[in-house]
Amino acid sequence: MHTVYFLLGANLGDRAATLQRALEAIQIDLGPVLLQSSLYETAAWGVTEQPAFLNQVLKVLSVFPAEEMLEKTQAIENRLGRVRREKWGSRVIDIDLLYVDETVLNSEKLTVPHPFLHERRFTLVPLSEIAPAFEHPVFHKTNRQLLAECPDKSDVRKWVP
Ligand code: ADP
Ligand code: MG
Repeated sequence: MHTVYFLLGANLGDRAATLQRALEAIQIDLGPVLLQSSLYETAAWGVTEQPAFLNQVLKVLSVFPAEEMLEKTQAIENRLGRVRREKWGSRVIDIDLLYVDETVLNSEKLTVPHPFLHERRFTLVPLSEIAPAFEHPVFHKTNRQLLAECPDKSDVRKWVP
């Protein structure tokens, strides 16, 4: 059994509804969601004409190896993405693997821990909400420490409908 943290992101359509559908699909295809962070809103990086993102982190228990988790979450992205694809560029749904247990792996398809998780407040804020004391297996710092030391100053706000 593996403990995995996923980052969900959506910036098109009914973002909160899409995140909820992604959570339900993960629950069915991968395994039980043990914890879910609040939803947070962050302005899109770089491309400023893009709508703001909603992000959420999930803690999930899954029997599948990491590469299979990625295949399954990509299938979920495709399924949810097909519903509304009005604009190029923006993401209907993005599902990234942040951590899989204390696994460190770097293959062509998958890097775990996620290579940018320590650089992004939109990841560290929801992650620290549900797993403040979990230690990054490469940096040997907790999520709380990584957040405190993160140079990213983006405004990440708790989102209320
Ligand atoms: P983004 O970098 O914006 O998340 P995509 O969702 O299109 O872009 O992902 C691009 C590729 O990143 C995927 O095809 C996948 O193989 C690879 N990838 C590497 N590591 C990870 C990870 N930890 N989680 C999700 N995708 C990953
Ligand atoms: Mg992705």
